[in-house]
Parts: sequence; C-alpha cells; structure tokens
Amino acid sequence: MTRNHRRKKETRAFAAATGKTYLDAANSLNKLKAAEVPLATTLHDSLVAEFRAAGWPVIADQFPMGGRLWIYAGPATVNIGREVSAAVQRNLTGDEHPDDPNAFDLGSPLEIIVTAPRMYNYSDELQRVVGFEPREVSTNQPFTEIVTEINSLISEARHRDQSDIPERATCDICGDRYPSDGLFEARDMLDSRLEVCPCCIFDADIDLDPALLAYDLDFAATESVAAPAGWAAAQVLLGCLGGADLLGWLKQQWKERSPGWRVPEEWWADSLQTWIWLPPAAQRPIALADLGCGASLNAIIAAVGRSFPELQSTCRVSFMESVRDELVSDSYGDFDGDSGPAEYREMYRMAGVAFERLWPAAVAFTVAMATQVAERPRDHSPRARLQRPLFQAEHWDRSMSSGLNVCDVESVLEHCIPKVREALYPDRQPRRP
Ligand SMILES: [Zn+2]
Repeated sequence: MTRNHRRKKETRAFAAATGKTYLDAANSLNKLKAAEVPLATTLHDSLVAEFRAAGWPVIADQFPMGGRLWIYAGPATVNIGREVSAAVQRNLTGDEHPDDPNAFDLGSPLEIIVTAPRMYNYSDELQRVVGFEPREVSTNQPFTEIVTEINSLISEARHRDQSDIPERATCDICGDRYPSDGLFEARDMLDSRLEVCPCCIFDADIDLDPALLAYDLDFAATESVAAPAGWAAAQVLLGCLGGADLLGWLKQQWKERSPGWRVPEEWWADSLQTWIWLPPAAQRPIALADLGCGASLNAIIAAVGRSFPELQSTCRVSFMESVRDELVSDSYGDFDGDSGPAEYREMYRMAGVAFERLWPAAVAFTVAMATQVAERPRDHSPRARLQRPLFQAEHWDRSMSSGLNVCDVESVLEHCIPKVREALYPDRQPRRP
C-alpha cells in the first residue's frame, strides 16, 4: 500500500509537471522505467528509503522545484536533477520534472547536490557560509555509500563550525561559555532579559516563553549545523507537552508575534522526527553505534529498545511505584492505585499518562545531553556535568495547555533520565559536582 501510495504521488507530480493526464503520466513513467532510462524519480525514492533505513528524519518532496526533486533529510537538503547547460537552465520555469523528455534530455546524467544546514546562511563571524556550500555527491556508488558520504560531510561541517565559531557569550544562569548563537533569549521573573544555555532554559528563575523558545529552536535547526546538542531535547520536550496541536498553536503564536516570522517546520507535528546529534562513535553507547552523526528520535528510541527491551517497562513500573508511595505517604495508607479516594486514583492515572507522553523526552534528554557533554568537555557548571537540566515545569501551562499535571512532568524526567543514562552509559556515570 505504501509503494502504491508513493507511486500515485510520483505520478501526480509527473502529470502536474508535464501537463499530461494522470493516465498518460503513469504510462510515460512505466515506459521510461521499462526502457531502463536512469530516472530522477527512482534515484529520489531509493535515497529516501536509504535515509529512512539509516534512521534519518526525512521529508520527501515529489513535486519538482527548479527542475529538480528534493529531499529534506535531518539538517541536509538533497536535490536531484540532470546536468544541463547554463542556457537550458536559464530557460527553465522551475516546475519542470527532471524525467520529462520534453524539458530535459533523458540521456544526460543525473546529479545529486547536497547542502547543510537547510537554509543558506552566511556568517560574518566566520567570514564564510555556515556548514558547507552546495556539494555534488557521486551517483556512481551504492545508495548506502551516498548516505554515508552525506553523513560525513555533515559531521565534518559540524566539527569545523563548532571549532571555528568563537565562544564570546556566557549563559546568564550557569556561567558556561557558548557561541552567541548557542544561547537563546529568555526573561526572568523581573522581566529582565537573559541569555541561557540548554541546561538552564528550564530553570525556576526563567519565565519561560514556549513560543519564543520554539522559534529560536526552529531557527537554529534550519540555519546552523553547530547548535549545542542539548537544544534538541528542549525541542522534544516542547513537542511532548504541546502534543498533536503544537504545530497549529505555533503557527498562530508566531503569526501574532510578527507577520515576518517564519512558518514552523514540519518536526513540530511529530517530536519523534526531531533530529538528535550523536557524539563520535568512540564516545557513544553500543546501542547507538549503527546510527550516523545524528538520527531521528524515533530511530534512537527504536535502537535503545532493541538493546534494552525491558527498559521502558521497568522505568514505568518503578515510576508508578514511586507515585504510589508518595500518595501513601500523603496519608492514604491503603492506596494501591485501584482503590482509594477518587481524587488520588485520578492523580495516579494522570501520572501514567505523563509517563507515556514524556518517555520520548527522557530518552532525548539523556542522549542529547550526553552528546553535548562529549562535544563540550570544558563546560564546568554542575548541570552540564550532571547531564541534565533542572526542570521547573510550572511555567509551561500558563501559555501551553499540556493537559498534564505539571508535577508529573518534572517527576517523570527526574525519575527516568538517570535510569536511561545508567543503561546506555554504565561506565560513565556523571560525577556529583
Ligand atoms: Zn546555562
């Protein structure tokens, strides 16, 4: 069914680009495939499948732009088209399909061009483009090797940018040094402006503005490959709290703040599609060894689940036990989760709901903060060394209705992050400050 669905989308895109009817477009594509002409469509779909198999979050755009087909894979943009002369390129209107014989010579070779970050961003500080300029990747290699090459380009660019960007800013809460783009704006309870790092954004002194935080996260994820790794965890937490309506809520919020603000990226619709940076292979747990320089949270959770099939259920049991113990100590001595006052049964039930919603955030915080510690060994604040931020969730619900008990948000994360870390990094538990 998935293949048929993809085939239909591909045919619709081809029909739209060539002006053919749907049936004619389907026949033309079938004939081209039977003639074994190298097709951009085939290369595009094969690469999408390869990226997904490698754990990358992928948006596959079937409709041509600039005469090319596009893939958005993690922080990279990949486009596939045909080598054409400058004169042909100039005469294109842009929506021609690269497999349309009326627009292109189908005998001309296909090419793959990659850029990262997604948005072209010239940095005055670096005196060069952030990440890397459009780069051609050879089509004359297996799809797995193409993804491996793109992974290496991104990994090298991240390392280069992180090394080259000076750390001229200081987190106003913990005092650790960061590049100025690595800190985000926040306000304290007296409405004074602060610049804070991923370890401090949930501090009790911050009057958190989730819509602004989401905007900064969106900006950093599309215009940099060097953002501190911990920010991805904040993005996931926003996603877990915002739930299914988050994308619509952000669209509305950002429009109200300023008509000039960007439109939220697709990852706000599904926090499992968040890109999480991973440390170099030598500094990561075996469970994540097969992934690239980063992966979708979905792929990371799956990899953790394969190595530790019982971890989530064990954490759930111990968390629910801790909730029950707390309720018992609150004078309901015989409370066992099923019997007792209705109010307490509801609190117990809500704690279970919070666990299910926030488990992805617990994994994201563990992995993303471990990456940040590996990439920033000079950080000295206790929070950085403990590899977890301090969660003060009571500020969230004023503007975002998560539907969760805010105490449960803190409790789930405080309970689960150390357990996930213990499983993934048994020999490298953070020392107490
Ligand atoms: Zn800080």
